[in-house]
Amino acid sequence: MLSTMQDVPLTVTRILHHGMTIHGKSQVTTWTGEPEPHRRTFAEIGARATQLANALRDELGVDGDQRIATLMWNNAEHVEAYLAIPSMGAVLHTLNLRLPPEQLAWIVNHADDKAVIVNGSLLPLLVPLLPHLPSIEHIVVAGPGDRSALAGVTPRVHEYEELIAGRPTTFDWPELDERQAAAMCYTSGTTGDPKGVVYSHRSIYLHSMQVNMTESMGLTDKDTTLVVVPQFHVNAWGLPHATFMSGVNMLMPDRFLQPAPLADMIERERPTHAAAVPTIWQGLLAEVTANPRDLTSMANVTIGGAACPPSLMEAYDKLGVRLCHAWGMTETSPLGTMAHPPAGLSDEEQWPYRVTQGRFPAGVEARLVGPGGEHLPWDGESAGELEVRGPWIAAAYYGGSDGDHLRPEDKFSEDGWLKTGDVGVISADGFLTLTDRAKDVIKSGGEWISSVELENALMAHPDVAEAAVVAVPDEKWGERPLATVVLKEGAADVDYEALKAFLAESGIAKWQLPERWSVIPAVPKTSVGKFDKKVIRKQYAEGELDVTQL
Ligand code: AMP
Repeated sequence: MLSTMQDVPLTVTRILHHGMTIHGKSQVTTWTGEPEPHRRTFAEIGARATQLANALRDELGVDGDQRIATLMWNNAEHVEAYLAIPSMGAVLHTLNLRLPPEQLAWIVNHADDKAVIVNGSLLPLLVPLLPHLPSIEHIVVAGPGDRSALAGVTPRVHEYEELIAGRPTTFDWPELDERQAAAMCYTSGTTGDPKGVVYSHRSIYLHSMQVNMTESMGLTDKDTTLVVVPQFHVNAWGLPHATFMSGVNMLMPDRFLQPAPLADMIERERPTHAAAVPTIWQGLLAEVTANPRDLTSMANVTIGGAACPPSLMEAYDKLGVRLCHAWGMTETSPLGTMAHPPAGLSDEEQWPYRVTQGRFPAGVEARLVGPGGEHLPWDGESAGELEVRGPWIAAAYYGGSDGDHLRPEDKFSEDGWLKTGDVGVISADGFLTLTDRAKDVIKSGGEWISSVELENALMAHPDVAEAAVVAVPDEKWGERPLATVVLKEGAADVDYEALKAFLAESGIAKWQLPERWSVIPAVPKTSVGKFDKKVIRKQYAEGELDVTQL
């Protein structure tokens, strides 16, 4: 028997309409580096997004599912693109401005982008690539930055403000199938070519609802969220669409992502929430330790994208800022888990839950798979690869405009689950604890050592700013851990024996203690600010590290 319910497609167009009318007074504030930031209401954003859609159709000839790229910081114009492009039936393709140029060119060509909306300050990155980007017919430039490099380029150049000025604030929005492509994002591609994940209207709509649930970020129109996570990193974790859906004010840092301006932004604008990777929070902590600022408005902060060291959480607790740990991937839109402890626990009892990656929402089913393909129990002890499925989780990668979508065996199970490549355990009450990426696990004499556990323990040492532990070949054990540490400014000379003893005192088993140590100036980071362990492995293999063996 079929239901008697209406079948209304879940689309970004609906989010746009809802946000600009019901929440018309909410604001997007963009940092400008000037005394006053720039402010625009959702009503204005909605009207301008509609003008942008008209301009894209009438001037650029966008009339179907063409891919329109953005090479932009987090700002109001980028939010307009987020709403206009999918709503008109085209596909928003956010480009990661920190990727090496050749990877960026590969991605634009693979997606066959027709046009790119670019911030003026990023033209020095885009213009040299243009000879390698034959599909780009139009460049739309927004915001400050020298335009002179654009003289003589082949694509047609438009100024964003001139392009949308005077256009109608109504548009004949198409009736879209909710399963149609709305946006795409390529994984950072640490091995092999980057892989394109294509989000549907439906997946974005459902994911936005989940982001807004109290068990996830739980924001309302009383909140302001500081969106530090870049709009090119899994759609800023879904925040621009989710906030537009529920009227949450956005504070956008634009290109001012250094710790000092971030601290100023927080003190002046008093956001109630923020989202960023651990590296950002580490940097901000060092800044406010040296130059104290009031961060207490941020009652609730989402931290994810890489494991949050418990010591970082503790440090922010002392500043009156509560970090909530979340796990996700480009392939999962990204919200997979969030670590809100169960009800009825004291602060002390909450702690063991807070340091996990968190619980799965109803829309994310999870299972753990052992090395032989067997499904493992949720007992908090059996470690295996995490597999997930759900309505905002990828089923394949983009195959190119005339190709079939790709389902590599190492990424998807035969029965359609996403193999995350993350290894961990799940407790009986459904809390996930990740111990490693499958490729980062240290296999020592047939036993596994968790690099994350060693890193977290090391980063709790008062002299250690950052620590990254990688597997290195060992004749006797197959692999052993190499601990690389970054010392805090002003820390005493390193004493590896003392660090090793500190690890032992914090509960690391004796056989897991590293014997190879190296002090490094900084942990290499990926384009989205995560520890880039393959660089450390390569530096070790090529003898570039000064290693002490105890
Ligand atoms: P990306 O698609 O670039 O966002 O990378 C996704 C990967 O980041 C995941 O598969 C994890 O390995 C890692 N990751 C994300 N969040 C966390 C977290 N809270 N703890 C540990 N690793 C994480």
